[in-house]
Amino acid sequence: MTNQLEFVRVKNFIDGEWVAESGAEYVPLFNPSTGEQIGEVPLSSKETSQAAVNSAHKAYDSWRRLPTSKRVNYLFRLRSAMEEHAEELAFSIAIDQAKHISEARGEVSRVLEIIETACGIPTLIQGETLEGVGSNITARVIRQPLGVFGGIAPFNFPALVFGWFVPFAIGAGNTFLFKPSPESPFFMQKMGDILNEIGLPRGVVNIVNGDHAVPEGWYDHPKIAGVCLVGSTPTAKKVAERCGKAGKRSMLLGGAKNYLVAMEDAQMDVFIENYLNSCYGSAGQRCLAGSIVAAVPAIHDRLVERIVEASKKVTVGDAMDPGVYMGPVISAQAKKRVEHYIEIGINEGANLVLDGRNPRVPEKNKNGYFVGPTVFTDVTPDMTIAKEEIFGPVVSVMKIRDIDVALELIRNQENGNGACLFTQNLYYTEKFISEANVGMVGINVGICAPHPYVPFGGIKDSLLGTNKVQGKGGIDFFTQDKIATIRFSSPSGAFLDRGEGEKEGGKVAEPQAVRSCVGR
Ligand code: NAD
Repeated sequence: MTNQLEFVRVKNFIDGEWVAESGAEYVPLFNPSTGEQIGEVPLSSKETSQAAVNSAHKAYDSWRRLPTSKRVNYLFRLRSAMEEHAEELAFSIAIDQAKHISEARGEVSRVLEIIETACGIPTLIQGETLEGVGSNITARVIRQPLGVFGGIAPFNFPALVFGWFVPFAIGAGNTFLFKPSPESPFFMQKMGDILNEIGLPRGVVNIVNGDHAVPEGWYDHPKIAGVCLVGSTPTAKKVAERCGKAGKRSMLLGGAKNYLVAMEDAQMDVFIENYLNSCYGSAGQRCLAGSIVAAVPAIHDRLVERIVEASKKVTVGDAMDPGVYMGPVISAQAKKRVEHYIEIGINEGANLVLDGRNPRVPEKNKNGYFVGPTVFTDVTPDMTIAKEEIFGPVVSVMKIRDIDVALELIRNQENGNGACLFTQNLYYTEKFISEANVGMVGINVGICAPHPYVPFGGIKDSLLGTNKVQGKGGIDFFTQDKIATIRFSSPSGAFLDRGEGEKEGGKVAEPQAVRSCVGR
């Protein structure tokens, strides 16, 4: 793939080779900015998925035995090669899912930071040792890879999710199967070339394209150690159930519905700037997108005025056009779904103060999947638009009495990904950080996305499985502890003197008759 708009017949990357899927159904891939077909994606077969498992399994033994420093060396090379190809990678993201080109660049640069963090694997996966747990006995905890992991990506962050899974998994010595979303496969098409360019041994990373049928054969597969996924909550729940039944570890990030809470002392300009990026960046298709604004009475009316005024200025158009602010949603179906939610909002009595249906776009984009900024006021917590993830540029504004009401609304949500508070008040800040029942909070920021060195993930229905990505837990997920209990003595049989048989009142204490379940 180059930066040309050429038709792409998506291939799988198995055992270091690009393989065209034969005999499978191919689904068309459209440029959401124009509605033009730009490629087709295979719904790969069980056999292909199995071939990828075999390749990853075959690669595992030698990959895990490679000195850690050598594995890390590949990560350094991966980072350099991705930086060199950063513009092509950003282009690949901006074309198939029509993420705005400036955001696509931002996504690639975030992945570079994650890989930099993963380059610390030799320190990050170190174990522990405790000398003298018994007489002449040392306990040692070592952390080892598990084998082959499968990873499933959503359409909206094809690069970021690669970053969350692959560098940590392979850095720790595992091998990997990556299934991109059939709606955004181009980034991984570019990545396969990069993996070959850096000379990554065959089979360490395999890419299999398709739908839910691809991972179908993973859950019960004896060669698969675990599955990770980022996607909607219904999908995460299905995968959690399958992994649970099979006794496999899973790391599953689900959907979201995020509040932006404005207190009476919120700085209006700061709020509006953050609101625009949070609610309309990626056309609202981010797991940390703000979709509910909860404002106290002292600020509510002025805030609504400013929101509407700023939202009307948001330019909508081709994701490749640096002059526009917001691109389209991912598909014709997604556009319909978002418009359906707007109808539901109207029918349930919310006040539509800005209608983003059928926004004006340039002639060349007339068949794209656009929804403009949409704002409802007078939204109540029982309304569908206040409860369900819309995943589009639709915002519900609620008037709330005080911070306690905001916290209660957040607590009552099924999802618990992120929530942001806008205030200058330390009491509100600390209360919100302590009591907001979500996994990630932000203060005076609109997108509370944690940096690569700390965990990323929600709670409640936003996180199935055990671990969050990134941070300590995101690395632990790809390793397992082994504990060694080591008794030692000198070649002559002498033990180290560690105070055995201490004297009490000049006499050696009689040992108690205890038979331990561990070495003494
Ligand atoms: P999706 O759930 O439709 O699909 C996600 C991936 O799962 C795709 O690769 C899809 O092919 C695959 N899939 C679908 N059904 C499956 C099944 N039954 N078994 C196994 N795999 C299956 O989600 P999407 O529309 O691609 O992405 C948007 C969703 O992802 C939103 O809900 C968003 O909030 C969420 N998301 C969450 C985070 C987070 O950090 N929590 C980040 C990004 C996206």
